[in-house]
Amino acid sequence: MPSEQPPFLTALVINGELVEGQGFPEPILNPATGGILTHVAGASSDQVEEAVLAAHHASHGWTQTTPQHRSKILLAIANAVENQAEHLARLESLNCGKPLHMALKDDLNAAVDVFRFFAGAIRCQSGQLSGEYLPGYTSMVRRDPIGVVASIAPWNYPIMMAAWKIAPALAAGNTIVFKPSEHTPLSILALAPVLVELLPRGVINIICGGGEGVGSHLVNHSKVRMVSLTGDVVTGQKILQAAAKTLKRTHFELGGKAPVIVCNDADIQLVVEGVRSYGYYNAGQDCTAACRIYAQDKIHDRLVAELSAAVSSLRYASGRDNENELGPLISSRQRDRVASFVERALSQPHIERLTGAAMHPGAGFYYKPTLLAGCRQNDEIVQREVFGPVVTVTRFEELEQAVGWANDSEYGLASSVWTQNLDRAMQIAARLQYGCTWINSHFMLVSEMPHGGLKRSGYGKDLSSDSLQDYSVVRHIMARHGNELK
Ligand code: NAD
Repeated sequence: MPSEQPPFLTALVINGELVEGQGFPEPILNPATGGILTHVAGASSDQVEEAVLAAHHASHGWTQTTPQHRSKILLAIANAVENQAEHLARLESLNCGKPLHMALKDDLNAAVDVFRFFAGAIRCQSGQLSGEYLPGYTSMVRRDPIGVVASIAPWNYPIMMAAWKIAPALAAGNTIVFKPSEHTPLSILALAPVLVELLPRGVINIICGGGEGVGSHLVNHSKVRMVSLTGDVVTGQKILQAAAKTLKRTHFELGGKAPVIVCNDADIQLVVEGVRSYGYYNAGQDCTAACRIYAQDKIHDRLVAELSAAVSSLRYASGRDNENELGPLISSRQRDRVASFVERALSQPHIERLTGAAMHPGAGFYYKPTLLAGCRQNDEIVQREVFGPVVTVTRFEELEQAVGWANDSEYGLASSVWTQNLDRAMQIAARLQYGCTWINSHFMLVSEMPHGGLKRSGYGKDLSSDSLQDYSVVRHIMARHGNELK
């Protein structure tokens, strides 16, 4: 192992103990070089069983804790993540290929903030008033935990997704079996000793392994009461089928294909900067990526020219990591998938390559930032999620047409509209069928506001107090006391 690499922790967390997995040893790659960083052994079938039962048994004590108690622990986790931020960012950078400075500034700061937000939010929940809705009876509403939550995370933002899933579930009083992506377990495993120290035995369990083996065993377990997944639509469908058997609750964030409507009067500089940053952020491996531009006819040609120059200037694969603006794709498979989308797109005579559209020569799973123009609404590249550094431009004339095209998608996660006319922006925003619409911006997420989709992008909210509602159940308590004061 080269000396600049930090030591990698590979132990799972089961019932408050750090234990090596007894299942398949998964090679963990550095996507920037293609080299193997280490191996992490997944959980065996017995270990999945132990993890779920540990969470089930821990549930009794954890549900009885007060919001204040859980809040203190979440704040301590936030502090621990903050104290280890450089180390965790380094792992994130090695394991995902993200530029280190971006992992530190964006992913780690966000993860810390999410733990702090839920530490506060759980202490100031509000709800329906208690009252007498039948004479002689007082009704009140409680919000109680659901029980064991299986949290299944993707590879694009490993530590941030862990925070998004773990913080609200614990805050609401649930216990967890968390499974990171088999590609990116290193950051959460590095945090495992701290979680074991801070949380009672069994409240959090972390198991690694592939989706079809460990993941499927977990989501089929009868003691798991809720499954939360961020990942592919097909994975969501499989989990729904498994969940149906025992009527588990589900919470899904399953990707997107964000439309970006650019009106004739948009501030072109703002659009160019926005798309350059947020169409290609994390190498486009982001479900909110600004990847599907609809440009109105009078601004179209200038936008395409300026954007083309801007995208060509994106820096990646430089030996000086702090200059890089995007990293490689997560795997050679993902890079090949992106390449084949672009190849099929360019086999259409009406689609024009403005920049990119090739693998980067040399080591690592890099794909050049790509901009395609002349795309039409029915083209595969406009309809399907590429999950890579590829942005398309489609020309439109009437706003009605752009809104129709933007909504003509199986996805419904994120969208944006760019215009200097606020009335127009508000009218368009009101018509878009997306979980989020940004105006003259894109990609901005804050812990206080809900994030989640419509249609095949899934349902359920991450972040915000709405997420606390998703991780809890409403119960009605009704006390009979009669009307006579005796
Ligand atoms: P995936 O859905 O296969 O994996 C996500 C998580 O689900 C992983 O932890 C995986 O092990 C687990 N999983 C897979 N099959 C499972 C099953 N049957 N039961 C239980 N758990 C299971 O996604 P991926 O292979 O990592 O990526 C494929 C595509 O998914 C990407 O190209 C992209 O389009 C999409 N994706 C979306 C997001 C997002 O943020 N919404 C993130 C990653 C990937």
